[in-house]
Amino acid sequence: ISKRLEKFKTTIFTQMSMLAIKHGAINLGQGFPNFDGPEFVKEAAIQAIREGKNQYARGYGVPDLNSAVAERFKKDTGLVVEPEKEVTVTSGCTEAIAATMLGLINPGDEVIVFAPFYDSYEATLSMAGAKIKSITLRPPDFSVPLDELKSAFSKNTRAVLINTPHNPTGKMFTREELEAIASLCIENDALAFTDEVYDKLAFEADHISMASLPGMYERTVTLNSLGKTFSLTGWKIGWAIAPPHLTWGVRQAHAFLTFATSTPMQSAAAVALRAPDSYYEELKRDYNVKKAILVDGLKSVGFKVFPSSGTYFVVVDHTPFGFENDIAFCEYLIKEVGVVAIPTSVFYLNPEEGKDLVRFTFCKDEDTLKAAVERMKERL
Ligand code: GLN
Repeated sequence: ISKRLEKFKTTIFTQMSMLAIKHGAINLGQGFPNFDGPEFVKEAAIQAIREGKNQYARGYGVPDLNSAVAERFKKDTGLVVEPEKEVTVTSGCTEAIAATMLGLINPGDEVIVFAPFYDSYEATLSMAGAKIKSITLRPPDFSVPLDELKSAFSKNTRAVLINTPHNPTGKMFTREELEAIASLCIENDALAFTDEVYDKLAFEADHISMASLPGMYERTVTLNSLGKTFSLTGWKIGWAIAPPHLTWGVRQAHAFLTFATSTPMQSAAAVALRAPDSYYEELKRDYNVKKAILVDGLKSVGFKVFPSSGTYFVVVDHTPFGFENDIAFCEYLIKEVGVVAIPTSVFYLNPEEGKDLVRFTFCKDEDTLKAAVERMKERL
C-alpha cells in the first residue's frame, strides 16, 4: 500500500456495519436509511434504463441533471450558475470531495478542517499531499473557536473545508461563524470547500450555503448529493458547483477518477431534484418524528445528549456508563447490548479528543429506533 494511505484503516462505517451483521445488532451506526427512496424517482430510473440511456454519460454530467442541479441551487441560494460551466456531476459527494482536493490542492498546501470530520476528508487530503490543520469543535455546542481558526491561517493556506449541517455532531454553522470564516478566506486569499449533503435535513435553523455570502461564490466549491435527501445512498450521485476557474480543476480530476457517472441514475436524479416543496417538507416532518424517538430514548437511557440541529445524526457522551473510551463503549454496545453506534475518535487527528463521544443515526424506521432504545434500557 502507498505511504499516502497506509495509515488509514478500513473505514469505521464498513467495520461497524460488518460487526452489526456478525452480532445481529441493530445498526444505528452507518448513515443509510433502512427504508426505500421515493417511487417516482425509482420509476424514473427504470424508465431511463428501458429507454436505453445506458452508455457512458457526458463526463461532467447528463445535461438535464446539470440543469436540475443549477435550478435547485438557484431555488436554495438565489445564485444563478451556468449548468454547462459550473456544475460537475460525480459518483457521490465522496468523489466530488476527492476531485476537489486532487484538482485544486498542490502538495504542501495547507487545508483547514474542523474536527470531528468525516473520514474521507483526511484520506483525500493525504492523497492530494495537503498539510491538514485541524480545528476542534467542542461540546456542548461545537461552536467555532474563532481565535484558534484565525491563527490556523498562514500564507500557505489554500482552503478551508466546511461541513454544514455537520456530520457527526448535527451542528449547523451559524451565519456569524460562516461570515467569520468567509472574511478570513477573503483576507488570506483562500478557497472554501463546503460539504452540504445534509442541507435538506436542517431542523432547527435554515441552512446557509457559504457560496451565498458576499464575495464567496468566486472562491467556493459547493458539494452536495442525492443520497441523503432522497434516501438513495446506494445510487452515488453527487455534484460540485463552482465558478469556471475552480470547476476546471474539479473536472480534470473527475475525468481521470471515474470519467463519468451512471447514466440512467443521473436521468432519475434530475427528476428527483425537481420534486415539489411538499416532498422536502414531508422528509423533514418524518425525520423530526424519528429524531424525537431517538433523542428522548437516549436521554431516558441515561446518556448526555448534545443538541443536533441538522443531519440524521446525534452525538452523546457515553461516560455515565463508565467505559474507558468510545471504542470500548461501542464494543460493549454491539456485543452485549446488540446496538451499533459509531465511535467518534476516528474523526479527529488526535483520537483522544473524541474518546467520550459516540454517534447514533436516526435514519431508520420507527420500530427499529424504538427497539434499539429498549435494548439499551434493558442491557446498559
Ligand atoms: N456518510 C455516512 C455516515 O457518516 C457513511 C458513508 C460511508 O459509509 N462511507 O454514516
